[in-house]
This record gives sequence, C-alpha cells and structure tokens, in this order.
Amino acid sequence: MTDHQTKKIAIIRCDIVSETCPGVGCFMAFNNRKEYFKNYGSNTEIAAFFTCGGCSGRRIYRLLKSLKKFKVDVVHLSSCMQMANYPKCPHIEEIKRTVRNAGMELVEGTHH
Ligand code: SF4
Repeated sequence: MTDHQTKKIAIIRCDIVSETCPGVGCFMAFNNRKEYFKNYGSNTEIAAFFTCGGCSGRRIYRLLKSLKKFKVDVVHLSSCMQMANYPKCPHIEEIKRTVRNAGMELVEGTHH
C-alpha cells in the first residue's frame, strides 16, 4: 500500500463483553494511536466495529465477506477477546482462521 492511500481497519469484539463495554477503550487507543494502533498514520480510519455475534462468532464470516467491497485491509480482534481477566473465548482459534481465510491482515489486540 502506498502512503497516500487510506488504510482501513475493522475491529471485532466479544458479544458478551459488549453488554457492559461501550468500546471506549478501543476508540481511545485508535484516536491516540496507542498500543496496537501505534504504527498507523493519520491516513488510517476505522471502517467497521462490530461484535462476533455471540458464540461461536457466527457473524464474523458473513460480515468480513461484506467488508471486502469496502477494501478493509486489517482486522483487529479486541483485547477483551484475548485477555485473562475476561471470560476466555473458546472459539478464538477458529475466529483467527476465519479472518486469515478472508485474506485480511490479522492483529490480535486493541488497547491492552
Ligand atoms: S465467540 Fe468468543 S468473542 Fe464471541 S461471544 Fe463467544 S467468547 Fe465472546
């Protein structure tokens, strides 16, 4: 990708955690280019932010497919899907495979 092109990212997060989390941590980290977003330039934008749809991540395949036409480059899995102090996601490996199979770059984390 050349510098002048806008880089588009999508964030997938845990549907269970979304009941209590409005996603502020993810957006703050992105807006301030911190943690897992620190290497992005000002030409990067969040194109999509959605939950997995509940176990076992049933929305992910379908939504990634529809995101292809919006030319999303990178998919971040939110930190809540991977941290020890949240319920451990029993489907995380399958979810990662789904993202890779969609042909998008995978980043495992957002703000922690
Ligand atoms: S599949 Fe994983 S990320 Fe999705 S709701 Fe279940 S535990 Fe959360």
